[in-house]
Amino acid sequence: MNVHEFQAKELLGSYGVPVPPGAVAYAPHQAVAGACELGGESWVVKAQIHAGGRGKAGGVRVAESPEEVGRIAAELLGTRLVTAQTGPAGSVVGRVLVEPASRIARELYLGLVVDRAAQRTALIASTAGGVEIEESEAKLVRETIDPALGLQDFQCRKVAAALGLGGDLLRPAVKLMRSVYRCFVETDALQVEINPLVVTAEGELVALDAKVSFDDNAIARRPGIAALRDLDEEDPKEIDASEHGLNYIALDGSVGCIVNGAGLAMATMDAITLHGARPANFLDVGGGATPEKVSNAFRIVLTDPNVKTILVNIFAGINRCDWIAEGIVAASRELEIDVPIVARLAGTNVEEGRRILAESGLSLISTENLDEAASAAVASLGAAA
Ligand code: ADP
Ligand code: MG
Repeated sequence: MNVHEFQAKELLGSYGVPVPPGAVAYAPHQAVAGACELGGESWVVKAQIHAGGRGKAGGVRVAESPEEVGRIAAELLGTRLVTAQTGPAGSVVGRVLVEPASRIARELYLGLVVDRAAQRTALIASTAGGVEIEESEAKLVRETIDPALGLQDFQCRKVAAALGLGGDLLRPAVKLMRSVYRCFVETDALQVEINPLVVTAEGELVALDAKVSFDDNAIARRPGIAALRDLDEEDPKEIDASEHGLNYIALDGSVGCIVNGAGLAMATMDAITLHGARPANFLDVGGGATPEKVSNAFRIVLTDPNVKTILVNIFAGINRCDWIAEGIVAASRELEIDVPIVARLAGTNVEEGRRILAESGLSLISTENLDEAASAAVASLGAAA
Protein backbone atom coordinates (compact mmCIF):
# COMPACT_ATOMS: atom_id res chain seq x y z
CA MET A 1 0.00 0.00 0.00
CA ASN A 2 1.24 3.45 -0.91
CA VAL A 3 0.50 6.75 0.81
CA HIS A 4 0.79 10.41 -0.14
CA GLU A 5 3.86 12.54 0.48
CA PHE A 6 2.16 14.60 3.21
CA GLN A 7 1.19 11.38 5.06
CA ALA A 8 4.69 9.94 4.72
CA LYS A 9 6.16 13.18 6.07
CA GLU A 10 3.74 13.25 9.01
CA LEU A 11 4.66 9.67 9.83
CA LEU A 12 8.43 10.19 9.50
CA GLY A 13 8.09 13.44 11.46
CA SER A 14 6.45 11.55 14.31
CA TYR A 15 9.58 9.37 14.47
CA GLY A 16 11.82 12.44 14.74
CA VAL A 17 12.85 12.83 11.10
CA PRO A 18 13.12 16.59 10.31
CA VAL A 19 10.47 17.50 7.72
CA PRO A 20 9.31 20.96 6.65
CA PRO A 21 6.06 22.36 8.06
CA GLY A 22 3.22 22.09 5.57
CA ALA A 23 -0.47 22.61 4.91
CA VAL A 24 -2.71 20.24 2.94
CA ALA A 25 -5.34 21.94 0.75
CA TYR A 26 -8.31 20.55 -1.15
CA ALA A 27 -9.27 23.93 -2.63
CA PRO A 28 -7.31 27.04 -3.73
CA HIS A 29 -8.54 29.23 -0.86
CA GLN A 30 -7.29 26.64 1.64
CA ALA A 31 -3.89 26.72 -0.09
CA VAL A 32 -3.76 30.53 0.26
CA ALA A 33 -4.76 30.33 3.93
CA GLY A 34 -2.14 27.62 4.46
CA ALA A 35 0.59 29.75 2.90
CA CYS A 36 -0.35 32.75 5.07
CA GLU A 37 -0.32 30.62 8.19
CA LEU A 38 3.06 29.09 7.34
CA GLY A 39 4.48 32.56 6.68
CA GLY A 40 7.66 33.35 4.76
CA GLU A 41 8.24 34.86 1.33
CA SER A 42 8.03 31.97 -1.05
CA TRP A 43 6.29 28.61 -1.07
CA VAL A 44 6.24 25.33 -2.95
CA VAL A 45 2.90 23.89 -4.08
CA LYS A 46 3.07 20.12 -4.50
CA ALA A 47 0.50 17.85 -6.20
CA GLN A 48 -0.31 14.87 -3.95
CA ILE A 49 -0.53 11.67 -6.00
CA HIS A 50 0.87 8.21 -5.31
CA ALA A 51 3.70 8.61 -7.81
CA GLY A 52 6.99 10.39 -8.06
CA GLY A 53 8.39 12.32 -11.01
CA ARG A 54 6.07 15.23 -10.16
CA GLY A 55 8.82 17.85 -10.26
CA LYS A 56 9.61 17.18 -13.92
CA ALA A 57 5.92 16.98 -14.84
CA GLY A 58 5.01 20.41 -13.41
CA GLY A 59 3.46 19.01 -10.25
CA VAL A 60 5.87 20.82 -7.88
CA ARG A 61 5.87 24.59 -8.38
CA VAL A 62 7.34 27.61 -6.58
CA ALA A 63 5.09 30.57 -5.70
CA GLU A 64 6.31 34.04 -4.68
CA SER A 65 3.05 35.23 -3.08
CA PRO A 66 -0.01 33.69 -1.38
CA GLU A 67 -2.07 34.73 -4.46
CA GLU A 68 0.30 32.77 -6.69
CA VAL A 69 -0.05 29.79 -4.32
CA GLY A 70 -3.81 30.02 -4.94
CA ARG A 71 -3.36 30.26 -8.72
CA ILE A 72 -1.05 27.23 -8.86
CA ALA A 73 -3.36 25.23 -6.56
CA ALA A 74 -6.30 26.07 -8.87
CA GLU A 75 -4.28 24.87 -11.85
CA LEU A 76 -3.22 21.61 -10.22
CA LEU A 77 -6.37 20.56 -8.35
CA GLY A 78 -8.66 18.33 -10.38
CA THR A 79 -6.20 17.89 -13.24
CA ARG A 80 -4.77 14.59 -14.35
CA LEU A 81 -1.03 14.68 -13.74
CA VAL A 82 1.01 12.40 -15.97
CA THR A 83 4.53 11.68 -14.72
CA ALA A 84 7.17 9.15 -15.69
CA GLN A 85 5.81 6.95 -12.87
CA THR A 86 2.01 7.19 -13.34
CA GLY A 87 1.65 5.52 -16.73
CA PRO A 88 -0.08 7.28 -19.62
CA ALA A 89 -3.45 7.58 -17.81
CA GLY A 90 -1.94 9.75 -15.06
CA SER A 91 -3.47 10.41 -11.64
CA VAL A 92 -6.09 13.00 -10.66
CA VAL A 93 -4.77 15.58 -8.19
CA GLY A 94 -7.24 15.70 -5.29
CA ARG A 95 -5.10 17.79 -2.93
CA VAL A 96 -1.91 19.79 -2.79
CA LEU A 97 0.70 20.25 -0.10
CA VAL A 98 1.93 23.82 0.51
CA GLU A 99 5.36 24.21 2.12
CA PRO A 100 7.72 27.11 2.67
CA ALA A 101 10.36 26.98 -0.07
CA SER A 102 13.61 25.69 1.38
CA ARG A 103 16.93 27.20 0.34
CA ILE A 104 18.74 24.12 -0.87
CA ALA A 105 22.51 23.75 -0.67
CA ARG A 106 22.76 20.02 -1.47
CA GLU A 107 20.27 17.34 -2.58
CA LEU A 108 20.95 13.80 -1.36
CA TYR A 109 19.10 10.50 -1.64
CA LEU A 110 18.38 8.15 1.29
CA GLY A 111 16.27 5.02 1.21
CA LEU A 112 15.47 1.76 2.96
CA VAL A 113 14.54 -1.20 0.78
CA VAL A 114 14.14 -4.94 1.15
CA ASP A 115 17.17 -6.55 -0.46
CA ARG A 116 15.68 -9.90 -1.53
CA ALA A 117 19.02 -11.42 -2.51
CA ALA A 118 20.53 -10.62 0.90
CA GLN A 119 17.20 -11.38 2.64
CA ARG A 120 17.72 -8.21 4.65
CA THR A 121 16.73 -4.59 4.77
CA ALA A 122 19.30 -2.33 3.16
CA LEU A 123 20.04 1.33 3.72
CA ILE A 124 20.93 2.97 0.42
CA ALA A 125 22.15 6.47 -0.21
CA SER A 126 23.57 8.69 -2.92
CA THR A 127 25.03 12.17 -3.23
CA ALA A 128 23.02 12.67 -6.44
CA GLY A 129 19.56 13.25 -4.92
CA GLY A 130 16.80 15.20 -6.63
CA VAL A 131 14.81 14.85 -9.81
CA GLU A 132 17.77 13.71 -11.93
CA ILE A 133 18.65 10.67 -9.80
CA GLU A 134 17.71 8.19 -12.52
CA GLU A 135 20.10 9.82 -15.01
CA SER A 136 22.89 10.11 -12.48
CA GLU A 137 25.92 7.86 -12.53
CA ALA A 138 26.86 8.57 -8.93
CA LYS A 139 27.56 5.44 -6.95
CA LEU A 140 24.93 4.12 -4.57
CA VAL A 141 26.18 3.42 -1.03
CA ARG A 142 24.61 0.33 0.50
CA GLU A 143 24.58 -1.07 4.05
CA THR A 144 22.64 -4.26 4.69
CA ILE A 145 21.12 -4.47 8.15
CA ASP A 146 21.20 -7.48 10.46
CA PRO A 147 17.58 -7.79 11.70
CA ALA A 148 18.70 -9.06 15.11
CA LEU A 149 20.98 -6.08 15.69
CA GLY A 150 19.12 -3.38 13.81
CA LEU A 151 20.82 -0.47 12.09
CA GLN A 152 24.11 0.20 13.89
CA ASP A 153 25.66 3.60 14.55
CA PHE A 154 28.86 2.67 12.72
CA GLN A 155 26.80 1.90 9.61
CA CYS A 156 25.07 5.29 9.86
CA ARG A 157 28.44 7.01 10.25
CA LYS A 158 29.76 5.18 7.21
CA VAL A 159 26.82 6.29 5.10
CA ALA A 160 27.02 9.85 6.49
CA ALA A 161 30.69 10.01 5.53
CA ALA A 162 29.90 8.79 2.02
CA LEU A 163 27.27 11.55 1.75
CA GLY A 164 29.76 14.17 2.94
CA LEU A 165 27.79 14.75 6.13
CA GLY A 166 30.57 15.43 8.63
CA GLY A 167 31.17 18.03 11.33
CA ASP A 168 27.98 19.46 12.80
CA LEU A 169 25.86 17.37 10.44
CA LEU A 170 27.16 13.97 11.54
CA ARG A 171 25.04 13.62 14.68
CA PRO A 172 21.78 14.78 13.05
CA ALA A 173 22.50 12.48 10.09
CA VAL A 174 22.98 9.42 12.32
CA LYS A 175 19.86 10.30 14.31
CA LEU A 176 17.85 10.75 11.10
CA MET A 177 18.90 7.35 9.71
CA ARG A 178 18.04 5.62 12.98
CA SER A 179 14.64 7.32 13.05
CA VAL A 180 13.88 6.30 9.47
CA TYR A 181 14.86 2.72 10.28
CA ARG A 182 12.68 2.62 13.41
CA CYS A 183 9.74 3.94 11.38
CA PHE A 184 10.39 1.32 8.68
CA VAL A 185 10.40 -1.57 11.16
CA GLU A 186 7.54 -0.42 13.37
CA THR A 187 5.14 0.21 10.47
CA ASP A 188 5.99 -2.91 8.42
CA ALA A 189 7.14 -0.74 5.55
CA LEU A 190 8.55 -2.29 2.38
CA GLN A 191 10.22 0.85 1.17
CA VAL A 192 11.09 4.32 2.39
CA GLU A 193 12.56 6.82 -0.01
CA ILE A 194 13.69 10.33 0.91
CA ASN A 195 14.55 12.10 -2.31
CA PRO A 196 15.72 14.71 -1.87
CA LEU A 197 17.18 14.74 1.62
CA VAL A 198 18.58 18.24 1.61
CA VAL A 199 21.20 20.26 3.39
CA THR A 200 19.74 23.76 3.53
CA ALA A 201 21.63 27.03 3.13
CA GLU A 202 21.21 27.36 6.91
CA GLY A 203 23.11 24.08 7.36
CA GLU A 204 20.17 21.90 8.38
CA LEU A 205 19.23 18.43 7.26
CA VAL A 206 15.59 18.17 6.04
CA ALA A 207 13.55 15.49 4.25
CA LEU A 208 11.97 17.52 1.40
CA ASP A 209 10.18 14.57 -0.22
CA ALA A 210 9.14 11.21 1.20
CA LYS A 211 7.66 8.10 -0.28
CA VAL A 212 6.68 5.15 1.93
CA SER A 213 4.99 1.91 0.93
CA PHE A 214 3.74 -0.74 3.31
CA ASP A 215 3.40 -4.50 3.27
CA ASP A 216 -0.26 -5.28 2.39
CA ASN A 217 -0.02 -8.52 4.38
CA ALA A 218 0.74 -6.58 7.57
CA ILE A 219 -1.89 -3.85 7.21
CA ALA A 220 -4.37 -5.80 9.35
CA ARG A 221 -2.19 -5.32 12.43
CA ARG A 222 -1.49 -1.63 11.71
CA PRO A 223 -4.82 0.19 11.97
CA GLY A 224 -3.03 3.56 11.98
CA ILE A 225 -1.46 2.75 8.61
CA ALA A 226 -4.65 1.21 7.17
CA ALA A 227 -6.41 4.53 7.85
CA LEU A 228 -3.99 6.27 5.45
CA ARG A 229 -5.29 4.30 2.46
CA ASP A 230 -6.60 6.49 -0.42
CA LEU A 231 -9.06 4.45 -2.48
CA ASP A 232 -9.08 7.13 -5.23
CA GLU A 233 -5.55 6.03 -6.10
CA GLU A 234 -6.53 2.38 -6.59
CA ASP A 235 -8.21 0.47 -9.44
CA PRO A 236 -11.95 0.24 -8.55
CA LYS A 237 -11.99 -3.38 -9.81
CA GLU A 238 -9.25 -4.30 -7.35
CA ILE A 239 -11.16 -2.69 -4.44
CA ASP A 240 -14.39 -4.45 -5.48
CA ALA A 241 -12.53 -7.78 -5.65
CA SER A 242 -10.87 -7.40 -2.25
CA GLU A 243 -14.28 -6.68 -0.71
CA HIS A 244 -15.46 -10.05 -2.06
CA GLY A 245 -12.43 -11.99 -0.87
CA LEU A 246 -10.99 -12.25 -4.38
CA ASN A 247 -7.40 -11.55 -5.25
CA TYR A 248 -7.55 -9.50 -8.48
CA ILE A 249 -4.86 -7.56 -10.30
CA ALA A 250 -5.67 -5.71 -13.52
CA LEU A 251 -3.35 -6.31 -16.51
CA ASP A 252 -3.47 -5.04 -20.08
CA GLY A 253 -4.32 -8.10 -22.23
CA SER A 254 -7.64 -9.44 -23.56
CA VAL A 255 -8.08 -12.90 -21.97
CA GLY A 256 -9.98 -12.63 -18.67
CA CYS A 257 -8.79 -15.31 -16.20
CA ILE A 258 -10.72 -16.92 -13.35
CA VAL A 259 -8.47 -19.35 -11.52
CA ASN A 260 -7.99 -20.88 -8.08
CA GLY A 261 -4.61 -20.50 -6.41
CA ALA A 262 -1.85 -18.02 -7.19
CA GLY A 263 0.46 -20.68 -8.66
CA LEU A 264 -2.19 -21.97 -11.06
CA ALA A 265 -3.04 -18.37 -11.97
CA MET A 266 0.59 -17.74 -12.91
CA ALA A 267 0.71 -20.97 -14.93
CA THR A 268 -2.52 -19.97 -16.69
CA MET A 269 -1.10 -16.57 -17.59
CA ASP A 270 2.04 -18.25 -18.93
CA ALA A 271 -0.03 -20.66 -21.04
CA ILE A 272 -2.04 -17.79 -22.54
CA THR A 273 1.16 -15.93 -23.38
CA LEU A 274 2.68 -19.08 -24.85
CA HIS A 275 -0.30 -19.38 -27.22
CA GLY A 276 0.21 -15.80 -28.41
CA ALA A 277 -2.26 -13.68 -26.39
CA ARG A 278 -2.06 -11.70 -23.17
CA PRO A 279 -3.99 -12.04 -19.88
CA ALA A 280 -6.37 -9.19 -18.96
CA ASN A 281 -5.98 -9.88 -15.27
CA PHE A 282 -4.76 -12.11 -12.51
CA LEU A 283 -7.68 -13.43 -10.49
CA ASP A 284 -7.44 -15.99 -7.72
CA VAL A 285 -10.84 -17.06 -6.34
CA GLY A 286 -9.07 -18.92 -3.53
CA GLY A 287 -10.10 -22.16 -1.85
CA GLY A 288 -13.70 -23.12 -1.09
CA ALA A 289 -15.10 -20.69 -3.66
CA THR A 290 -18.90 -20.54 -3.45
CA PRO A 291 -21.11 -20.06 -6.53
CA GLU A 292 -21.60 -16.41 -5.39
CA LYS A 293 -17.85 -15.84 -5.30
CA VAL A 294 -17.43 -17.26 -8.81
CA SER A 295 -20.30 -15.12 -10.01
CA ASN A 296 -18.66 -12.01 -8.51
CA ALA A 297 -15.41 -12.97 -10.20
CA PHE A 298 -17.18 -12.98 -13.59
CA ARG A 299 -18.82 -9.63 -12.86
CA ILE A 300 -15.48 -8.00 -11.97
CA VAL A 301 -13.59 -9.51 -14.92
CA LEU A 302 -16.36 -8.35 -17.30
CA THR A 303 -16.18 -4.72 -16.15
CA ASP A 304 -12.87 -4.58 -18.03
CA PRO A 305 -13.79 -3.55 -21.61
CA ASN A 306 -10.58 -5.16 -22.93
CA VAL A 307 -11.81 -8.66 -22.01
CA LYS A 308 -12.69 -10.50 -25.24
CA THR A 309 -12.80 -14.05 -23.89
CA ILE A 310 -12.85 -15.68 -20.46
CA LEU A 311 -10.76 -18.64 -19.40
CA VAL A 312 -11.84 -20.49 -16.26
CA ASN A 313 -9.14 -22.80 -14.95
CA ILE A 314 -9.93 -24.68 -11.74
CA PHE A 315 -7.96 -27.49 -10.16
CA ALA A 316 -10.30 -28.29 -7.30
CA GLY A 317 -8.86 -29.68 -4.09
CA ILE A 318 -10.67 -27.76 -1.36
CA ASN A 319 -12.82 -26.26 -4.08
CA ARG A 320 -15.72 -28.16 -5.66
CA CYS A 321 -16.17 -28.24 -9.42
CA ASP A 322 -19.97 -28.43 -9.04
CA TRP A 323 -19.99 -25.12 -7.12
CA ILE A 324 -17.72 -23.52 -9.70
CA ALA A 325 -20.02 -24.75 -12.48
CA GLU A 326 -23.07 -23.42 -10.62
CA GLY A 327 -21.29 -20.06 -10.31
CA ILE A 328 -20.57 -20.01 -14.05
CA VAL A 329 -24.20 -20.83 -14.88
CA ALA A 330 -25.52 -18.22 -12.41
CA ALA A 331 -23.13 -15.56 -13.74
CA SER A 332 -24.14 -16.17 -17.35
CA ARG A 333 -27.84 -15.88 -16.42
CA GLU A 334 -27.36 -12.65 -14.44
CA LEU A 335 -24.77 -10.88 -16.54
CA GLU A 336 -25.55 -11.32 -20.26
CA ILE A 337 -22.05 -12.49 -21.07
CA ASP A 338 -21.33 -11.82 -24.74
CA VAL A 339 -17.77 -13.15 -24.86
CA PRO A 340 -16.76 -16.79 -25.30
CA ILE A 341 -16.09 -18.82 -22.14
CA VAL A 342 -13.56 -21.62 -22.02
CA ALA A 343 -13.71 -23.80 -18.91
CA ARG A 344 -11.21 -26.33 -17.72
CA LEU A 345 -12.33 -28.08 -14.56
CA ALA A 346 -10.39 -30.82 -12.77
CA GLY A 347 -10.43 -32.36 -9.30
CA THR A 348 -13.17 -32.66 -6.66
CA ASN A 349 -16.66 -33.35 -8.07
CA VAL A 350 -15.46 -32.83 -11.63
CA GLU A 351 -18.07 -35.18 -13.16
CA GLU A 352 -20.87 -33.29 -11.44
CA GLY A 353 -19.37 -29.95 -12.54
CA ARG A 354 -19.13 -31.00 -16.17
CA ARG A 355 -22.71 -32.35 -16.06
CA ILE A 356 -24.03 -29.01 -14.73
CA LEU A 357 -22.24 -27.14 -17.53
CA ALA A 358 -23.38 -29.61 -20.22
CA GLU A 359 -27.02 -29.48 -19.09
CA SER A 360 -27.07 -25.69 -18.69
CA GLY A 361 -27.47 -25.07 -22.39
CA LEU A 362 -24.62 -22.55 -22.27
CA SER A 363 -22.42 -22.45 -25.33
CA LEU A 364 -19.09 -22.73 -23.62
CA ILE A 365 -15.99 -24.63 -24.58
CA SER A 366 -15.09 -27.33 -22.05
CA THR A 367 -11.57 -28.77 -22.11
CA GLU A 368 -9.66 -31.43 -20.19
CA ASN A 369 -6.33 -29.70 -19.63
CA LEU A 370 -4.75 -26.26 -19.36
CA ASP A 371 -2.91 -26.35 -22.67
CA GLU A 372 -6.11 -27.11 -24.63
CA ALA A 373 -7.95 -24.45 -22.64
CA ALA A 374 -5.38 -21.74 -23.33
CA SER A 375 -5.23 -22.71 -26.99
CA ALA A 376 -9.06 -22.62 -27.28
CA ALA A 377 -9.26 -19.25 -25.50
CA VAL A 378 -6.67 -17.70 -27.80
CA ALA A 379 -8.35 -19.24 -30.87
CA SER A 380 -11.69 -17.77 -29.78
CA LEU A 381 -10.07 -14.32 -29.78
CA GLY A 382 -9.07 -14.79 -33.40
CA ALA A 383 -12.57 -16.01 -34.29
CA ALA A 384 -14.13 -12.95 -32.63
CA ALA A 385 -11.77 -10.61 -34.53
P1 ADP B 1 9.11 14.38 -7.16
O1 ADP B 1 10.11 13.44 -6.57
O2 ADP B 1 7.78 13.75 -7.33
O3 ADP B 1 9.61 15.05 -8.41
P2 ADP B 1 9.80 16.23 -5.00
O4 ADP B 1 9.01 16.45 -3.79
O5 ADP B 1 11.06 15.47 -4.86
O6 ADP B 1 8.85 15.60 -6.10
O7 ADP B 1 10.10 17.67 -5.63
C1 ADP B 1 10.91 17.83 -6.78
C2 ADP B 1 11.99 18.86 -6.51
O8 ADP B 1 11.41 20.07 -6.07
C3 ADP B 1 12.93 18.46 -5.38
O9 ADP B 1 13.99 17.67 -5.85
C4 ADP B 1 13.39 19.80 -4.86
O10 ADP B 1 14.47 20.26 -5.64
C5 ADP B 1 12.21 20.71 -5.09
N1 ADP B 1 11.42 20.89 -3.85
C6 ADP B 1 10.50 20.05 -3.33
N2 ADP B 1 10.00 20.53 -2.18
C7 ADP B 1 10.63 21.70 -1.95
C8 ADP B 1 10.57 22.68 -0.91
N3 ADP B 1 9.75 22.57 0.16
N4 ADP B 1 11.38 23.76 -1.01
C9 ADP B 1 12.22 23.90 -2.07
N5 ADP B 1 12.30 23.03 -3.08
C10 ADP B 1 11.53 21.93 -3.02
MG1 MG C 1 11.27 13.36 -4.99
